[in-house]
Amino acid sequence: MANITLKNIQKRFGDEEVIHGIDMEIDDGEFVILVGPSGCGKSTLLRMIAGLESITGGEVKIGDTVVNDMPPKARDIAMVFQSYALYPHMTVAENMGFALKLSKVDKAEVSKKVEAAAEILNLEPFLKRYPRELSGGQRQRVAMGRAIVRDPQVFLFDEPLSNLDAKLRVSMRTEIKELHQRLKTTTVYVTHDQIEAMTMADRIVVLHQGYVQQMGTPLELYDHPANLFVAGFIGSPG
Ligand code: ADP
Ligand code: MG
Repeated sequence: MANITLKNIQKRFGDEEVIHGIDMEIDDGEFVILVGPSGCGKSTLLRMIAGLESITGGEVKIGDTVVNDMPPKARDIAMVFQSYALYPHMTVAENMGFALKLSKVDKAEVSKKVEAAAEILNLEPFLKRYPRELSGGQRQRVAMGRAIVRDPQVFLFDEPLSNLDAKLRVSMRTEIKELHQRLKTTTVYVTHDQIEAMTMADRIVVLHQGYVQQMGTPLELYDHPANLFVAGFIGSPG
């Protein structure tokens, strides 16, 4: 089981506390979106789940395991960022298989996993191309392919679509949702875009200045916003 439990999570940078004791329960297979304005702590919270940022108070559990002191590599998660730095000198297939190759998975197995991921992401025709020969959307799919081949228990996305143009962003939303329906991997997805949140999430967490304002389904937030901030942010009548 890859449910995620956050218990009284805090984060301090020097003297400044930016995450103020957050509790959250994310179910196995759920697609949860963290949304809120720039600087509210979305990336910091995601990076603490990933192990890329230390935790200054509280507890993060993945399944039954407390992962507070576990390095990112031991956490069985895969993260997709906004700036999907692909290796320019490697083909699409090599980019997707690189992490597996590093962890000494044998060649035939790497090819098998890369081909399976390419099929899911419609990247089969592009496996021998180099990143410079791909469109922005194709590159983003390769970045997701790198995450998929590792078959993690948890996917973490940090604003994966914000470098894409509006039209592509809309089609990629659908692709990511279809991917989730197919794999059912527990997913935490960060965005500052409320439309993305409303259209993609099983449940939304609205963050503001390091506090959770509300957690609920898109409909719950729209129909019963907990406060004016949520109402304003989601765009509901209040
Ligand atoms: P978001 O992703 O929602 O835009 P962040 O999680 O990046 O917000 O940042 C939350 C707050 O923490 C901001 O006030 C930001 O300036 C601060 N912050 C983030 N990373 C650091 C850091 N490495 N050192 C100091 N302050 C940081
Ligand atoms: Mg951020």
